[in-house]
Amino acid sequence: MANLLHDSLLGKQANNPAPFLHLPEGGRISYAEFAKRAAQFAQALRDKGIRTGDRVAIQVQKSPDALALIFGCIQAGVIFLPLNTGYTADEVSYFVENSGARLLVCDPNTRDSLTPVAQAAGAMISDLGTGGDLTNAAAACSGDFATEPRAGDDIAAFLYTSGTTGRSKGAMLSQNNLLSNALMLVDHWHFTSEDVLLHALPIFHTHGLFVATNVLLAAGASMVFFPKLDADALIDHMPNATSLMGVPTFYTRLLDNPRFDQALCAKMRLFISGSAPLLAETHRQFQARSGHRILERYGMTETNMNTSNPYTGNRRAGTVGLPLPGVEIKVCDSAGQELPRGEIGVLEVRGPNVFQGYWQMPEKTAEELRPDGFFITGDLAQQGEDGYVTIVGRNKDLIISGGYNIYPKEIETLLDDQPGVLESAVIGVPHPDFGESPVGILVAQKGEAPDLSAIETAIAGSLARFKHPKRLILVDELPRNTMGKVQKALLRQDYADLFL
Ligand code: ATP
Ligand code: MG
Repeated sequence: MANLLHDSLLGKQANNPAPFLHLPEGGRISYAEFAKRAAQFAQALRDKGIRTGDRVAIQVQKSPDALALIFGCIQAGVIFLPLNTGYTADEVSYFVENSGARLLVCDPNTRDSLTPVAQAAGAMISDLGTGGDLTNAAAACSGDFATEPRAGDDIAAFLYTSGTTGRSKGAMLSQNNLLSNALMLVDHWHFTSEDVLLHALPIFHTHGLFVATNVLLAAGASMVFFPKLDADALIDHMPNATSLMGVPTFYTRLLDNPRFDQALCAKMRLFISGSAPLLAETHRQFQARSGHRILERYGMTETNMNTSNPYTGNRRAGTVGLPLPGVEIKVCDSAGQELPRGEIGVLEVRGPNVFQGYWQMPEKTAEELRPDGFFITGDLAQQGEDGYVTIVGRNKDLIISGGYNIYPKEIETLLDDQPGVLESAVIGVPHPDFGESPVGILVAQKGEAPDLSAIETAIAGSLARFKHPKRLILVDELPRNTMGKVQKALLRQDYADLFL
């Protein structure tokens, strides 16, 4: 039996001398070198007693070796769970215990603080990096590893969700879930072995790991592998690159950089955005500055990619495009009844990309995954007559004031258009009379001081009375996580007592 995911991505390139990673400081790692490194890690894991189906938690800085370790896990049939490098020891402890990991891999400088975490969970600990025991063990292995057989239904990874709406959940992703999406995206976004992708995303999240890396591997293309986002570094390498996958912050950073212009993009063919909503305004400014229309797509940890604006055809600002091939979508009411086109409801998706359930959360799985295979995303969406999908926000961010539904996005769109406003977030805050009332949190454009009472008057005419924000508040910036997602739960906490 074969190992479908390994064979289809790295395995078939194991002897390819072409570059896979370009290192920003100079140098490159070929496919063959990377495949050997992954096999060395596979062997090092085996030597530590890690068996097929065991879990390995990985919280390490982004590096070629960190990526090789993940692909070593795939080759060895080991379930990996990459963790956000920002998580504290207490947070890591939840993931190690929840996953039942047998091994926690960390950086040399976090080993001391994470050793008690591993011990408490009965897991081993290893470190990756210069002098790290796992790095040394891998270097001593031959790279001749007998690939572990795995079938398409076998679980490849537990990818934990970002925790935007509550506690992070471990999404069990099968080999088929990952591979079907990667192969389809290669085709849909026209990736070939000629492509050079600017990779500045983290590799603990689906965007940088499964969308970017798996697509690149499936295409036999290469990527410039940045340790983190640095707009100047991106710009330095852009003349030799063909594509970029980023969160919306990437695009605002590029626009903020005076060096960014059309000449830099001479070889670029595709700019992709996702993980958080891209402002229509950013889309327009980016086109004016670079000549390129950003391709926005929509996905999530549990499903990989669900919808995308077209490669050829209209990339419509403010929408996430059309359902991807093989992915079915429905916009439903809370009872799961499909709504007529154009109405706002909860988005449900079904396809070979949809995960196998949440690890050790049978109730949560039953709540969100229907018996007929549709997954209830928790996102509110609207699908136009022409099929284009607009994400209106999260179900959990819906405001119910005096019994009326208020979609924050409708108010945010108006606020964003006001003079001097850069961006906004509208949240529901507890209110003694209405249950909840909308409050607008605003960020000013650089050097501007928006007039809040003028804004109140200006938007009043476009909104029914019950939708009027009860208060507008100016802040320096919106709280965001590493993927650029606005943390509305934090904002709701901050302003919980405003009307009480
Ligand atoms: P949790 O599920 O733990 O609350 P999370 O949903 O933020 O966290 P992810 O799986 O990383 O975790 O993010 C998926 C979500 O990101 C989607 O459900 C959607 O709300 C949002 N998202 C992704 N792409 C887009 C996009 N292009 N536009 C708007 N929202 C997007
Ligand atoms: Mg989610």
